[in-house]
Amino acid sequence: MGTATAKKKYLHRGVALLVLLCTAVALSSCGLWEWMWSRDTSNPIDTSDLVIGGDQILEETDVVYEGAVEYTGEAHNGTDIYYVGKEGGSNRNRIIVIDPGHQMKGSSDMEPNGPGAEEMKAEVTWGSKGVYTGQAEYDLNLRVALLLRDELIRRGYSVVMIRETNNVDISNMERAEIANRYKADAYIRIHANSWTDAAMSGAMTISQSSSNPYPDCAAHYPQSSRLAYLVLEEFCAQTGIAKQGVREMDNMTGTNWSEVPTTIVEMGFLSNTSDDRLMATAYFRQEAAIGIANGLDAYFIWLETQASANSAGT
Ligand SMILES: [Zn+2]
Repeated sequence: MGTATAKKKYLHRGVALLVLLCTAVALSSCGLWEWMWSRDTSNPIDTSDLVIGGDQILEETDVVYEGAVEYTGEAHNGTDIYYVGKEGGSNRNRIIVIDPGHQMKGSSDMEPNGPGAEEMKAEVTWGSKGVYTGQAEYDLNLRVALLLRDELIRRGYSVVMIRETNNVDISNMERAEIANRYKADAYIRIHANSWTDAAMSGAMTISQSSSNPYPDCAAHYPQSSRLAYLVLEEFCAQTGIAKQGVREMDNMTGTNWSEVPTTIVEMGFLSNTSDDRLMATAYFRQEAAIGIANGLDAYFIWLETQASANSAGT
């Protein structure tokens, strides 16, 4: 009897040890391990390329992840990263896919401008650069995107990040396909503008037009249009930046491939000195994230009123 119990005990210990070992191996290979470690550092973003005259322009004042939100998701494909929303929250089933526009190195390989399109465009570029600060657009976009991620998680949304580092290679078509794969309730693409006229300033949002030639994209015109409008309103109200207005464009690869409601947020003009300097501040980036989140809240309130109006009509 005693020997059998002891044997059983050892067997249990052996199984427990094996499970522990397997878990450790699984964690280290799926990226979750790396993610857990990386949360301990307050600023995982490489700022070495953001310099004026040899000095770093940005203080390390980025908001530290609060840790109040429990992470229950897992890394996918090593590129997009999924955060599950707060349990029991009303936003848990709303998936926001965030695309921090561009990346450190562009790719001049070509891809179709939309499903079945003959027109080809470069897969992805590195974006523009601050005329005064020299800040890189891809890095600015990521900084705001990370703050938006944390803000949305705080509000209970589920969030998918298309990238969390600058050194990636994901084309605009592939980014849209990630949003499609998750059936995103909103696909938010974060950018900063640049123009030959240095006086041009302020924020704008972009959606497809009602006559977008790609049916799956055109189908979401009413939602994208409303999303673009509400995000711009809240973004400008929160940041205080001038309002350029909503643009409708059908030549953006990442929009044309999107089968979900989407908008591009052009936060300001890097070609304009005051916009550039403003966007280089931690204050602006935090307000930008809150503004976009407010726009998303407003969008889902609108969506609910649409749904109840429809059900009342039937
Ligand atoms: Zn851009």
